[in-house]
Parts: sequence; structure tokens; C-alpha cells
Amino acid sequence: MRVLLTGGAGYIGSHTLLKLLQEQNEVLVLDNFSNSSMESLRRVKQLANRDFDFRNGDICNSTLMNDTFNAFKPDAVIHFAGLKAVGESNDKPLDYYTHNVTGSVELLRCMRRHGCKQIVFSSSATVYGEADYLPYDEQHPLRPTNPYGRTKYFVEEIIKDWTASWSEASAVLLRYFNPVGAHDSGRIGEDPLSTPNNLVPFISQVAIGRLDKLNVFGSDYDTRDGTGERDYIHVDDLARAHLSAVHFASKNKACEAINVGTGRGATVLEMVKAFERASGRPIPLNMAARRNGDVAKSIADVSKANRLLDWEAIHNIDDMCRSTWNWQSLNPLGYK
Ligand code: NAD
Ligand code: UDP
Repeated sequence: MRVLLTGGAGYIGSHTLLKLLQEQNEVLVLDNFSNSSMESLRRVKQLANRDFDFRNGDICNSTLMNDTFNAFKPDAVIHFAGLKAVGESNDKPLDYYTHNVTGSVELLRCMRRHGCKQIVFSSSATVYGEADYLPYDEQHPLRPTNPYGRTKYFVEEIIKDWTASWSEASAVLLRYFNPVGAHDSGRIGEDPLSTPNNLVPFISQVAIGRLDKLNVFGSDYDTRDGTGERDYIHVDDLARAHLSAVHFASKNKACEAINVGTGRGATVLEMVKAFERASGRPIPLNMAARRNGDVAKSIADVSKANRLLDWEAIHNIDDMCRSTWNWQSLNPLGYK
């Protein structure tokens, strides 16, 4: 299959790219490197021992997008490209609406123009907002609480309308829970450009000595130990879910939203313990106030993914922490 990966140089994109190449797909990566580097692509090429096409550019650039579709003629698109920092989206909402929403509209327009009928979109569990019940299934009401989450919600709605207007089209909206971990080789992984906002990259930088201590945001939640509980998903399992989703989209003719998680939750303190086991290093803690906008628990109902994609996560939190530590200790400064 010929697959166009927008944002394919990024964290989740690079892991998915490697799997697509290993399964003998033809791939073109389009990325503007606003949050990634050429080095991840160079390493994927080495690991796969295969070449792939690549374009440095922005999904909002319609000329470039048209040229790319003309030249590559993709059968399917996996659409990772976008901005993803919740805090930053509060300060720069228009940047988020431009890159995430306008960019996606441009992509869908181009797909229609060139007869490319299948899309897999990187959505997020943040579309659910405060839980009415747990685990979240795909019918749970959508009430995102920040501009980033709203861009994901709006793009989901736009893709639904796009699919409804074109009987040939098919879409899978993958709602990722909390992706963590790295490839087993330790050659590719998550490389935050500034101080990490997310828990596991933060813990990892404490373990390697780049940061002093972890601030635990809230210890009075209604959870086993009072700290926030999340459904962490290994990036390797997540990458596999994309291959299943592309395969599913090639046989389906509709738009399906599908949760991607493990169906199990871990608290902040449980993740800290797992990371201490994996790294053999203590993680100093500071019990801090709750972070604005955080929910107590977020856990996926993964039965739809099991049923439609014939997919399930196989890695546990120890695997996630071990692979993160392997990547971090082999690359203390990430790709730099
Ligand atoms: P990432 O930042 O590592 O990857 C995104 C890639 O898109 C980067 O390489 C960046 O340079 C590129 N990009 C951004 N804007 C672009 C544009 N306008 N044109 C071309 N390229 C552009 O992020 P990631 O963690 O790999 O996430 C991938 C997708 O999954 C994003 O859409 C993100 O919102 C979504 N997602 C991520 C998480 C997570 O925790 N990592 C959770 C849920 C959803
Ligand atoms: N968290 C924390 N300290 C940090 C970062 C995160 O205690 O430095 C907590 C956060 O409050 C939440 C969990 O870790 O309970 C996961 O947060 P993350 O930002 O990784 O993902 P989110 O689910 O918020 O998207």
C-alpha cells in the first residue's frame, strides 16, 4: 500500500513509519520539523534498512500538498501532523486552529481532489473531557476543555462530514489515551524540545539528572493513592494500531472513532515506582497542588478496537518504563 504520513518525523509518526516500512508498504513522510528533526527519519531508515520518500513542508501549503499527491499518489493518509501542547494552546489558540484545523481541511480537500479515499486521524482522549462514567467508550459525550482538545473535536466532526459527503471515503479517528515508551532498539523515542509537560518524559529526565525532582500534581484525587490515574499505552502497541486501522479503512466505507488504550489505569505514584524499577534510580518527589484542567481518572474502553481492528495492547507499564529508560540512557540529550 502507498501511505502518506503527515507529521511522520514526530514521536508517534516515526514509530509507525518503521512498522509500515517493515511490512513492505511504500511511504512518503511530509513534515515541517516544527517539533522534530531529520535525525529521527535517518534512524528509521537505518532500522528498517529501507528508503522512503520525504518532503519538508507544511500541510497548510496547498501547492506543496497538491504536488505531493500528484507525485506520490497515496492510497491512504495517516494524519499525525499538528501542534499538541495543551498549555500552549491556551496562549496561542489561533496557531492551533490554523495548524490543526485549517491544515486538516487542506489535506482533506487535496485527498478528495486526487481520489485518495482513506484517512486515519490522530485524535485524543482529551475530546471526552470530564467523565460521566468510566471507562470512556466511544459514545461518551465529547466536551473538550481546552483549545487543543477542541481542535481534535472539530477535526473529527469535519472528517465525519467529509466521509458522509463522499460514498467512497473511509476514516478512522484513533483516540489515543496516554502514549509512552520507545522502540526496543533505543534508537527512536520521544524527544521533547523543551521541559516536558507529560509525566513519563518528565520522570525520565529526572532519572537521567536533567531535572531535579518530579512535581506530583495532586494527591487528593478519588483514586487508589490520591494521585491522577491514566491509561498509558506503549507507542509500539499504538503504532501497530495504525497498521490495523489502515487495513480496516481499506475495507470499510464510513467514519469510525476508536479508543486506543490498554483498558487499565496506573496512578502517578505507580508510574514512578515502575520507572524506579526500570532505571534502578530513585525519583525524588515534591507533592504539589493539582494542575488546572486535570481529571482524576482517564481509562479507555478498548472493546471496539478489539472488535473492529482485531487489535489489543500487549505491553504493560514495566515494558513502557524500561523502553523509555533504554532510549533516555542511550540518548541523554534525545536526537541532539
Ligand atoms: P510530535 O509533535 O512528535 O509529532 C507531530 C509532527 O507533526 C512533528 O514532527 C511536527 O514537526 C509535525 N507538524 C506539526 N505541524 C505541522 C504542519 N503544519 N505541517 C507539517 N508537519 C507538521 O507529536 P506526537 O506525540 O507524535 O503526536 C502525533 C499526533 O498525535 C498529533 O496530532 C497529536 O496531537 C496526537 N496525539 C498525541 C498524543 C501524545 O501524548 N503524544 C496524545 C493524543 C494525540
Ligand atoms: N503529572 C504530574 N507531574 C507532571 C506531569 C504530569 O503529576 O510533571 C500527572 C498529571 O497530573 C496526570 C498524569 O501525571 O495525572 C498524566 O499527565 P500527562 O500530562 O502525562 O497526560 P494527560 O493525561 O494530562 O494528557
